[in-house]
Order: sequence, then C-alpha cells, then structure tokens
Amino acid sequence: MNRRQAIQFSVCAALGASLGLSWPARLAEAAKQQEDEQDITDQFLEDYFQKIKNFNKVHPKDVYLPEAQRVTLKETVSRLQRMERVIGHANFHLISFDEALNTAKNSVTIGPFTRPEVVFLESMFFAAANDYGFLGEKPITQLTDAVPKHKVVKIPGTGNFLFKGPAEEVYHRVKTAVGADLQLTSGIRGIVKQYLLFLTKALDSGGNLSMASRSLAPPGYSFHGIGDFDVGQVGFGALNFTAQFTESRVFNRIKELGYLKLRYTRDNAYGVRFEPWHIRVIG
Ligand SMILES: [Zn+2]
Repeated sequence: MNRRQAIQFSVCAALGASLGLSWPARLAEAAKQQEDEQDITDQFLEDYFQKIKNFNKVHPKDVYLPEAQRVTLKETVSRLQRMERVIGHANFHLISFDEALNTAKNSVTIGPFTRPEVVFLESMFFAAANDYGFLGEKPITQLTDAVPKHKVVKIPGTGNFLFKGPAEEVYHRVKTAVGADLQLTSGIRGIVKQYLLFLTKALDSGGNLSMASRSLAPPGYSFHGIGDFDVGQVGFGALNFTAQFTESRVFNRIKELGYLKLRYTRDNAYGVRFEPWHIRVIG
C-alpha cells in the first residue's frame, strides 16, 4: 500500500467506523473485483457514490441479464403480476416460492411456471448479487423459506403485514408519536413479492441488473423479509419513495423524536440509493 492509498484507506475506515459499518472491507472487496486492485482508489469511490446518487441512470460497468433470458424475464414478470391479481395484493406479500408454484399450477388464469422460468428464478436467487453491484447482506438464504403466518399481524387499512415483536412495536411507537398522517407503505415482503418488485425493475431497466439493484434488493437480500418496513406521509403519493420524503412533516417528526433508524443512508456501503423511508428494525 503506498502513502496515497494508505491515506484513502484510513479515511474510509474512519468514515465506516463512524457509521458503525464494516464498509471499508465491503467496498475494498468490490473494488478488487471491479478494478483488480488491492486498495480502494479515489476513482472507485467517486464512481460508487455517483452510481448510488444517480441510481436510475446507466453506468458504464453495469451488468445486464443475458439477452437470451430477457423473454423469460418478461414472461415471469407477467405470471407474477397475474398471480398478484388473482390472490390479492395483501396475500401476495406473504406467499412462499413453493406456494407460488402450486398456486400457478392450479390456476387457469395464472398458468404453471414453465421449466425455463423456474430455472431462471432459481438462478436469480442463487446468483451472487455483488457481481452486479448489490453489496448488502442476504438475510434469507433458502429459496423455499416461508413467512411464518402465526408470527405476523395485518395492519388495518394498509394491505401490509408486520412481524409481531420488534417490527410491530417500532411501528406503533412511531405511529403514535407522529400521528395519523404517517402510513405504512410497505411491510413484510416474502421472496415472491421481492421477485416481482426486483424483476419488474430489471425489465423496466432493459435487463440492467445493476440499475435494478440500486433501487430494489434482489430476492433474498431484502430486510423486508425479516422485519424492516417503509413509512410515508398520507397524501404524499409516489413522493414517499423519493428523496423528497425528507421534506415531509412525517419524516421530520420521526427525526425530531429520535426514531430515525435508516438502513440505506445517503452514503451507505450497500450499493443502494438513499432510502429515507425505509426503517431499519433488524440489526
Ligand atoms: Zn424498504
């Protein structure tokens, strides 16, 4: 390590430590993969922060789904969308992979998943997401993991569920403190729901997996599967899922009251955009 690199690394380490993250190591690993160098370089960090800031833009090293799989991607998304319509938005949040296969098989409207679709879904789940730029942990490692129904509670009027225990308690504490204009915009998302969100984004991004993963965790990598949730302000609509949420009364009240615990901060080490609406419950 030369002097310049040593300075860069110590700056990163100090910044990482102040955030309570092991992110210098995480970024160093990504830097090695992408730059084939031993240490984090200025250029790597500059590119990294540009990417998470301009998350919806194409970046030169973005990784795309192979052309041959694009049709399968489209058909899989259509099938998942039909399933969501058939079983309902709320139920779709909880459905497991095995239940989804069975539900599709027994429904004329949905139709069974084809062999290429199942192979595609499996390959997406088991692919290492850091290969295309998502650097977060994978809290769900089994494709067949199901959300235990007896451990969840439905939040009236939202179509969303939360885990009993810490998630439900944090939500009620924040809701009581902030008031009626705080809404739960997304609670538990099982693997199948996360597939639909991530693959829809990948489809809309022209097969760009890197771009999709800057906005949505790939299936298995979402903490919505184990306890985190999203909040918004009633009437704020789609702005609840933009950086403008920081200008809302709800966000500022959460912050003032000391309840703000974000998973994806502005300078996070996960390769993900700033998500001021996503409340970290776990970890
Ligand atoms: Zn979220």
